[in-house]
Amino acid sequence: MEKLIFNGEFIDRSASKVDVEDRGYQFGDGVYEVIRVYNGKLFTSQMHLDRLIDSAKKISLDVGYTAAELEILIQQLVTENQLTYGTVYMQFTRGAAPRNHAFPVDKIQSVFVAYTKVIPYGGEVKSGKQAITTEDIRWLRCDIKSLNLLGNILAKQQAVEKGCFEAIQHRGDTITEGSSSNISIVKDNVLITHPPANLILNGITRRVMLHLCQTNGISYREESFTISEMMNADEVIMTSTSAEITPITLIDGKVIGAGTPGPITNKLQQLFHQEIEMQCGRVYSTT
Ligand code: PMP
Repeated sequence: MEKLIFNGEFIDRSASKVDVEDRGYQFGDGVYEVIRVYNGKLFTSQMHLDRLIDSAKKISLDVGYTAAELEILIQQLVTENQLTYGTVYMQFTRGAAPRNHAFPVDKIQSVFVAYTKVIPYGGEVKSGKQAITTEDIRWLRCDIKSLNLLGNILAKQQAVEKGCFEAIQHRGDTITEGSSSNISIVKDNVLITHPPANLILNGITRRVMLHLCQTNGISYREESFTISEMMNADEVIMTSTSAEITPITLIDGKVIGAGTPGPITNKLQQLFHQEIEMQCGRVYSTT
C-alpha cells in the first residue's frame, strides 16, 4: 500500500483526513511544489525546497521545517513507495480554523501533505507540441507557487479543448508564461525568456536550462518578448518539471520556425538529460 506524508507521519491515503475548514481547501491558502524523481532519486530537490520555503514566507506561512528536514522526509517517502520514475507532490496549507478571510488570531498548525505519483519515463520529447495563446488573467504575484490555480486551470482547459498541449499566456502584447510552464524563444541563435519577476514563476527547469546555456556557450537574454516575436521565432520552448524541455512547433495554428524541433532545443534537451544523469545516475526509458 502506497504511503503519503500527513503532518510528518507516514500513513495510508485512506487514513488521511482534511478538515472542511482547512484554509487550503476553502481559500487556496497554501503553497506547493512538484519534484521529479528519476531512478529513485530526487532531481533539483534543493532548489524546489528553497522555493517552497520562499513561497511560504511570501504569504507569511510558517512551514515549521527546514529544507534539509523536508528533503529527508520526502526521500524516505520515495524509498517507502519504491518510486523509480515519477514525482513527489507536496503542499503546506495555513491549517484549519473557523472560516474567516483574515489569518487566525491564535497561531494554528500548518498542514503538510506529500504523496508520490508514478510517471513512466520516455526520455526527451522528440515531437513538437501545439499551443494556443490566451490573455493572462491571473493575479500579480505569480512568483508565489500558491494553491490558487484557477487562472492557470482555465487557461489549460482552453488549450485542451482545442486539442493543444499548453496555453501560452500574455499580458497585453507581452508573453508571460505557460499555464504550467515557462516559455522561451530562440531567435538568431539567442534564447530569450521572461525575467524572473512577479509576473512569472521562476521555474527550476528554466533556471537549469539557463545554467546549461551559460556553461555551454549558448547565448541567452532574460527579457520579455511580444506575441509577434514569439510567432516569428526560430524555436519556441516550454519548460517545466513534468515537461522538462519540450519544443512547441505550432501556436494558434501557425507553424513556428521550420515546424520541427530546432537545433538549440535539441541541444538543450541533450544537455538536460546529461544533467539528470549527473544528479540521479543512469536513467532508462520505461515506456
Ligand atoms: N510556471 C507555472 C505557472 C508553473 O505551474 C510551472 C510548473 N511548476 C512552471 C512555470 C515551471 O516551473 P518548474 O520548472 O519549476 O516546474
